[in-house]
Amino acid sequence: MARVQLQHVWKKYSNDFVAVKDFNLDIQDKEFVVFVGPSGCGKTTTLRMIAGLEDITSGDLYIGDRRVNDVAPKDRDIAMVFQNYALYPHMTVYQNMAFGLKLRKMPKAEIDQRVRAAAKILDIEHLLDRKPKALSGGQRQRVALGRAIVREPAVFLMDEPLSNLDAKLRVQMRAEIRKLHQRIQTTVIYVTHDQTEAMTMGDRIVVMRDGVIQQEATPQEVYNH
Ligand code: ADP
Ligand code: ADP
Repeated sequence: MARVQLQHVWKKYSNDFVAVKDFNLDIQDKEFVVFVGPSGCGKTTTLRMIAGLEDITSGDLYIGDRRVNDVAPKDRDIAMVFQNYALYPHMTVYQNMAFGLKLRKMPKAEIDQRVRAAAKILDIEHLLDRKPKALSGGQRQRVALGRAIVREPAVFLMDEPLSNLDAKLRVQMRAEIRKLHQRIQTTVIYVTHDQTEAMTMGDRIVVMRDGVIQQEATPQEVYNH
């Protein structure tokens, strides 16, 4: 179960800039929420606080029933996908996907089973022995998703995961990520500056501006606004 709650969350950077101001949001288990808004409005900062990559200045963050403000990223039951896929170039697709599980000392048989299951879902089974440089942009993106889903996180955080892809592939991958969400049934928090992407992907859209939530609604409600 992974409900995610942010209560009166503030972020003040060390230069005194306040990037997130009294952010309140209750994300339900298995919900697909999109943070959208112009560059600099605080989307990534908020996501990074949820991931534990950025300290929360004040307020409370809960993942499931647990207050995680002081919990290390690796202990938060989350996985994050970035726009630059950050695949390890010297490793094969299989090794890239297995790496995080190996670090956790998971038995090889279970790693193998998870990697194969994820590769099947993402249709990259035929690419397992390739290195990243021998993959297309869309294939690399699938590997990055695969590397995250093998961990079976309760919460999936995605920061502009499609922005390095061309327009056609971007549209295709939107649908694939939605399908993936149906299939693996985790909570997803997805950041984009692209309104169309937000409208087509989110169960709920959180519109941010200058560090605050400007609007929070379903795509239908945003459309009718
Ligand atoms: P978005 O993801 O919506 O583009 P960010 O969360 O990346 O916005 O940034 C929000 C604001 O915080 C921006 O004005 C940005 O310049 C500022 N900011 C981001 N990181 C830092 C930092 N490490 N120190 C100071 N200001 C930062
Ligand atoms: P190590 O170098 O520690 O053996 P590897 O990451 O090379 O680790 O491989 C981990 C395990 O996964 C090994 O048992 C290897 O045989 C297996 N493996 C690696 N790539 C593939 C693949 N494409 N298909 C099937 N098994 C693979």
